[in-house]
Amino acid sequence: MHNVLAGFGFMLIRQSQKTSYNSIKQLNSNFEKKSSYFLNIHFLNFLSLSLNTQSKIILNKKNNIIFYNNKSLNNYKYNIINKSFSSSNKSFSSSNKSYSSSNKSYSSSNKSYSSSNKSYSSSNKSYSSSNKSYSSSNYIKKMSNEINVKKNCDHINLRGENCSTCNNIIENKTNQLNNGFANTCSYDYDYIVIGGGPGGMASAKEAAANGAKVLLLDFVKPSNQGTKWGLGGTCVNVGCVPKKLMHYAGHMGSLFKLDSGPYGWELGQIKHDWDKLVNTVQSHIHSLNFSYTVGLRSSKVKYINGLAKLKNMNTVTYYLKGDKTKEVDVTGKYILIATGCRPNIPEDVEGAKELSITSDDIFSLKKAPGKTLVVGASYVALECAGFLNSLGYDVSVAVRSIVLRGFDQQCANKVKTFMIEQGVLFLDGILPKKLTKETNGQIKVLFSNGNTEIYDTVLYATGRKGDIEGLNLQALNINMDKNSNKIITDKYSCTNITSIFAVGDVSFKCPELAPVCIKAGEILARRLFKKSNEIMDYTYIPTAIYTPIEYGSCGYSEESAYATFGKENVEIYLQEFNNLEISAVHRKKHKKAQKDDFDIDIGSTCLSKLICLKNQENIVIGFHYVGPNAGEVTQGMALAIKLKVKKSDFDTCVGIHPTDAESFMNLTITLSSGLSFAAKGGCGGGKCG
Ligand SMILES: Cc1cc2nc3c(=O)[nH]c(=O)nc-3n(C[C@H](O)[C@H](O)[C@H](O)COP(=O)(O)OP(=O)(O)OC[C@H]3O[C@@H](n4cnc5c(N)ncnc54)[C@H](O)[C@@H]3O)c2cc1C
Repeated sequence: MHNVLAGFGFMLIRQSQKTSYNSIKQLNSNFEKKSSYFLNIHFLNFLSLSLNTQSKIILNKKNNIIFYNNKSLNNYKYNIINKSFSSSNKSFSSSNKSYSSSNKSYSSSNKSYSSSNKSYSSSNKSYSSSNKSYSSSNYIKKMSNEINVKKNCDHINLRGENCSTCNNIIENKTNQLNNGFANTCSYDYDYIVIGGGPGGMASAKEAAANGAKVLLLDFVKPSNQGTKWGLGGTCVNVGCVPKKLMHYAGHMGSLFKLDSGPYGWELGQIKHDWDKLVNTVQSHIHSLNFSYTVGLRSSKVKYINGLAKLKNMNTVTYYLKGDKTKEVDVTGKYILIATGCRPNIPEDVEGAKELSITSDDIFSLKKAPGKTLVVGASYVALECAGFLNSLGYDVSVAVRSIVLRGFDQQCANKVKTFMIEQGVLFLDGILPKKLTKETNGQIKVLFSNGNTEIYDTVLYATGRKGDIEGLNLQALNINMDKNSNKIITDKYSCTNITSIFAVGDVSFKCPELAPVCIKAGEILARRLFKKSNEIMDYTYIPTAIYTPIEYGSCGYSEESAYATFGKENVEIYLQEFNNLEISAVHRKKHKKAQKDDFDIDIGSTCLSKLICLKNQENIVIGFHYVGPNAGEVTQGMALAIKLKVKKSDFDTCVGIHPTDAESFMNLTITLSSGLSFAAKGGCGGGKCG
């Protein structure tokens, strides 16, 4: 490097604008050719625009480029190696609007600069409209347009290829200019994100951290019952977070009611207060809503509570706070749709839409749910049924065919059996046909088998559909899956429109899980604004279901492994056993589930199951665990699966005693052997006898 710098020596540029620009271009190309250090083109672009006859650039021996603006006696230093920027005179940013407003390319290419200096990053509107002193020079204006088109190309990596496709993109952008689309040089934002759930927020923050100017629009359309919530999307408001808190509350109740006596506790009559639970859960959610707003601000993401729709491939229209009279257009170089999903209630069940609630409503329900019918057999259905039952409510689940479709069915049925033993009534093959309201406010349900039953609450959990309502996707011909209302993207999260992307629940075939949305959103942002080549890997994604007995899984189910690899190539190791703490107190079955006076204790609580590929040294392709703390157990194991663990690795790994997870280190029975896989010893997942 020093040789190269010595070659340049002390370089003083004090020439006409044109010469200055050429000098800088030359400087840059010399660097690229002769040095291993890459001098960021954006920085030079920025300097070139800032040059006038009273400016000069010096490249010194300490790898610093020093930019003097004689007019305002400022001195800015850019270190090539550390890519850091320092200034001797901070007042420059506030005193010289044209400078700060023209640095879009610079702020988007240089992290330390944009994050350290509020006045620059917050003021970097498009320079075509903002800067009179520069636009007075037609030459510079033309140049800046050229640079900007190049800049668009320079930091994007739309499809993971290292910008060999850039020429096409430049061509496309130029065509858009000619076709009257928003001028690439005058976008209001680098990135407009629609949807403030986990996917949208993560992507917005990651983009901003990499220098992009980002706008995030989020608005919650009220549920059929009028429920609304704050920033953060489904996960924090009506999904993962309240669900886990209510699951915990229910689990606590089960421990008090079912297990605490034999452990010596005398608790008297146990009563649950629904209002208190809702208050606790909602207070926590509100604190999270607030922290997300603060988080966006400190990440320099502009957040607007607005309902968005697409106008064209670079323009979004939003309605402030959903008010259709307050319409605003904003332009963005890239647009991300991360609007998630909403519960789907079948159209053909009379009264269902008007009288039922969904998971959007249950966590803030004003009055205790009472006797509840849950319709559906998804994980959301079983989780809600599970915690309501554990909290002491009479719960029935109407199931069309099987529970937890897509999950390993042996495990799914174990979850179901446990729930039955805890008092949940499963109405198999029976669905509501009609819902009517009684005069006392209760709901009469007419079932498909002709029976009727009265409930206080009917909760529909029959799947979720992409929340695309009002987004105007048809007008832009964005490819959709009509059944799920989800947006079809390629593996780069790109829709069929090059400037429009989709991540999270709203993107077709994406697993509906918060961490998946977050990762996909971050990876996309890095590809767009950090020249990253990363692509989201959707294989071996772990998940847990928070039913009264939990279930965690990663990879293939028994059914999908047989279908993919052939039954003859699959070996399954498994063990059924009793969790130590529950078996010690002989937890009782719910009265409803007892067949006779001798049918008192619940069955085995846990199932551990590994699915392996015989012809590939028993590499583990599926992990399944039914038992307490399934999320915690599965998260650790998922790492091993991702690292291509083999059954022999489990065999040589020493267990932690006494735990349920240690069962995985002791699996000797295969399903194909036909032997009993019920554990012989009584010490939980271990083998101490
Ligand atoms: C009951 C339940 C339990 C769950 N439990 C778990 C769990 O335990 N673990 C897990 O990983 N996942 C869980 N999930 C799934 C998880 O919540 C979702 O995968 C995740 O929230 C999806 O994130 P997202 O960013 O794609 O969309 P969302 O979180 O749905 O956010 C989208 C946001 O965009 C907004 N929006 C929609 N349209 C517009 C528009 N036109 N303009 C502006 N804003 C708009 C929405 O109002 C919303 O705020 C659960 C889901 C539910 C329903």
